[in-house]
Amino acid sequence: MRNSRIGWTDHTFNPWIGCTEVSAGCDNCYARRDFDERKSLVRWGACQPRHRTSRTYWRQPHLWNAEARLTGKRPRVFCASLADWADEQVPENWKNELFLLINQCRDLNWLLLTKRIGAASDYLTRTCPMWPWPHVWIGASVENAGASDRIADLLRIPAAGHFLSCEPLLGPLNVQIAPSPAWSFDHGHLIGVDWVIASGESGPLARPTHPNWLRSLRDQCAHDGRPFFFKGWGEWTSLGGWPGSRLQPHVFPDGLCMHRVGHKASGCLLDGVEHKEVPQCLR
Ligand code: SF4
Repeated sequence: MRNSRIGWTDHTFNPWIGCTEVSAGCDNCYARRDFDERKSLVRWGACQPRHRTSRTYWRQPHLWNAEARLTGKRPRVFCASLADWADEQVPENWKNELFLLINQCRDLNWLLLTKRIGAASDYLTRTCPMWPWPHVWIGASVENAGASDRIADLLRIPAAGHFLSCEPLLGPLNVQIAPSPAWSFDHGHLIGVDWVIASGESGPLARPTHPNWLRSLRDQCAHDGRPFFFKGWGEWTSLGGWPGSRLQPHVFPDGLCMHRVGHKASGCLLDGVEHKEVPQCLR
């Protein structure tokens, strides 16, 4: 049974909670809003201690793993939604315990997402024996062209698969990285991003995503045969018919007008089509 409400994963696992902002994609961090500003469980910031989740909670992946072994169906586990697993502020022994758990739970497909690709690469090459592991995918969170260096850096990390989370998508983005002979071929196959996930932003301060930024990602993925998962618009829609909206519309420089209609009403259709593609080996 899946425990996550995030459409592209089955389970979510947070080994700890807390983080420090890295880039524009962090401006409206929902984890900070919920666990720092609302609940005061943990303070966000570079010199603040992270909150380790409970021993009972840490047993859950073992239960999912046992179930996966019984059913033969490998669920996807997203780590982490309320933190960044490669956060430099996190004690190394916590990370070691996380990777011990991941190594023990090999019937799960782990999706490790980070904005700290340099720190991730450093940790994996320094401490993980026999890396890459066949049940672990590494992902980079990339919100706009300003953060796109993370894509090339991600692809330099050996992994069973590489994915991008463009959530929230805040600008146009090229995910078709130019091949570099030094690192772009493996057994004759072009190494590239294996999966692209995108969405608009949710929450009270959500920024709108221009439909052309999403169309471009969709078309790049279709061109290269990469699965594309569009989670949803977040809060804003570019569809007409919202004259009663109480909030000011957002007008982009090209004249496109979007209205804030809420998470549910904005939906997850792009040009009338739902995109919920998942790589074959993760289904
Ligand atoms: S990296 Fe993720 S968890 Fe950390 S501040 Fe940014 S959005 Fe929040």
